[in-house]
Amino acid sequence: MIIELKSKINPEVKKSIVAKVAALGYKSMEVNTQRSQYLVAIGKKEFDIRTIGHMAGIADIHQVSDEYKLVSKKWKVAPTVIDLGDGVTIGGNGLSIMAGPCSIENEKQIEQTIQHLVSNNVRIMRGGVFKPRSSPYAFRGLGIDGLKLWYELARKNGIKIISEVMQVSQIEPMLPYVDVFQVGARNTQNFNLLDELGKVDKPVMIKRGISGTIDELLSSAEYVFSAGNEKLILCERGIRTYEKASRNTMDINAIPILKAKSHLPVVADPSHGIGIREFVPPVALAAAVAGADGIIYETHQKPEEAFSDGQQTLDFDESSRLIEKLRAAHKLMAN
Ligand code: PEP
Ligand code: MN
Repeated sequence: MIIELKSKINPEVKKSIVAKVAALGYKSMEVNTQRSQYLVAIGKKEFDIRTIGHMAGIADIHQVSDEYKLVSKKWKVAPTVIDLGDGVTIGGNGLSIMAGPCSIENEKQIEQTIQHLVSNNVRIMRGGVFKPRSSPYAFRGLGIDGLKLWYELARKNGIKIISEVMQVSQIEPMLPYVDVFQVGARNTQNFNLLDELGKVDKPVMIKRGISGTIDELLSSAEYVFSAGNEKLILCERGIRTYEKASRNTMDINAIPILKAKSHLPVVADPSHGIGIREFVPPVALAAAVAGADGIIYETHQKPEEAFSDGQQTLDFDESSRLIEKLRAAHKLMAN
């Protein structure tokens, strides 16, 4: 059960609500986010919500049977829209395109990518400065200095930044320079990281775990929300299956399912989803047609020379063609 409290609730009134909920056999947890104050009440007993609905201090009350609650659509039917400022949003009616290299490599690469995005009217650039790599000998990113340089160039050009945070200690130094924190597939169930991201006032995009279920992704989002941050985005990026013909198996099914289960925006990552450059555009288009609110993919001026994931990275011509098709596909679906 979710009890949304009135914004200026008197602490004594809140206490009496908590006591009443406890008397009904529910355990409640208080959640304070940027938007509102909630009591999430967990308990098995069925009861008529009208018995408490009239109490002073309660703005709204909803019974949600799902394991995850605050991210559930059963509570909030209207889609959540993430506002990055300057007219850039994720969720709602548009299709957000986020593109950029797997890894931020150097100034020239950042400039060329920004130029490519600006010329295609794309407002969000992806790129890793902290890279989770399977091998410890592979390129592991430029770190915070790379992020600062990127930020400086991006801001001059009206570009927003999404970048992966790998551990709790990186949140604070990254905070002023990112517009969206990305939680990678290897960290979807790093609950300490999720708890800490719940304390910041910046959007967080959580990728589905490599072997994670849809409900596990939603529970990870619930961690961040219940810790205080409701600016959340879900991302399908392919899962590990028995199939070896592609890097991962892009679960297109997850897109309409997530959208039906949650009010949060759903983004698709076809680059990691299939892992094969020539097949990234068709999978991206399939995701857009399936209802994704955004597509995030890898592009680089010379994919053959990329420091990481070149095999799944589009060059700028391929990227421009994809952007055009994505917009056409989205328009088609909106009709
Ligand atoms: C990435 O986006 O570069 C990345 C490492 O993705 P994932 O966590 O999905 O593997
Ligand atoms: Mn990558």
